[in-house]
Amino acid sequence: MIRVTVWNEYLHEKNEPQVAAVYPKGIHGAIADFLSRDPELEVRTATLDMPEHGLTEEVLNATDVLIWWGHMGHHLVSDEVVERVADRVLHGMGLVCLHSAHHSKIFRKLMGTACHLRWRDIGENERIWTIEPSHPIAAGLPAYFDIPQEEMYGERFDIPTPDELVFLGWFRGGEVFRSGVTYRRGFGRIFYFQPGHEMYGNFYNENVQRVITNAVHWAKSTFVCPAYLNGEAVPPPEAYVPQTDVVSHKDYGRPEYLNLK
Ligand code: ZN
Repeated sequence: MIRVTVWNEYLHEKNEPQVAAVYPKGIHGAIADFLSRDPELEVRTATLDMPEHGLTEEVLNATDVLIWWGHMGHHLVSDEVVERVADRVLHGMGLVCLHSAHHSKIFRKLMGTACHLRWRDIGENERIWTIEPSHPIAAGLPAYFDIPQEEMYGERFDIPTPDELVFLGWFRGGEVFRSGVTYRRGFGRIFYFQPGHEMYGNFYNENVQRVITNAVHWAKSTFVCPAYLNGEAVPPPEAYVPQTDVVSHKDYGRPEYLNLK
């Protein structure tokens, strides 16, 4: 079982009827719906308005992969919660950041860069190219797939050079974008994926759903962080334990060849 928590700021859907019409159960609800069809996933959701944004120690300790969607409320996320999430990622929790989460506190913190990009929202079409088809996140995806309408995100995307560049987006206006990128931070795996503007319903797109589902499986770590990696002293390896019967080097005496005349 992979325990997934889908986090959404849940502000557009509550304040803009046209977005509520697209995502009546919220973006988190739509994502949780398709993830729940995978019998290997145990899915829960959390939103900004919950105590501690729904990301308590207890929830995070029971989360293998965290999905993040945020846009207008990045500044409303408490630094304490961001620190907590970052610490969990460094200890092995997977993180999947979607669309405008490129500007979330947690993504920027883990990237160490501004994560700015070029953007334009006129509802143009996008073609996403699978440029690393052997990557687990690209499993089952075609060479490219088309999204009828999406907000344009263009280069330069101010991110560190990705560990892996899995998808490349092209927009009607001519811009290109590194749409699917992976990173490792500490023991955690991070995936950023660009589609998912609140107006266009692209979390109902079959290929987008497949990418996110694959990403959850990929981001789940099997690594269990041992205590000494939390800063505790390392126990001495067996072979290096001092033996009482070892003759100290001074007992060897001075070698003959050093008795210079
Ligand atoms: Zn957007």
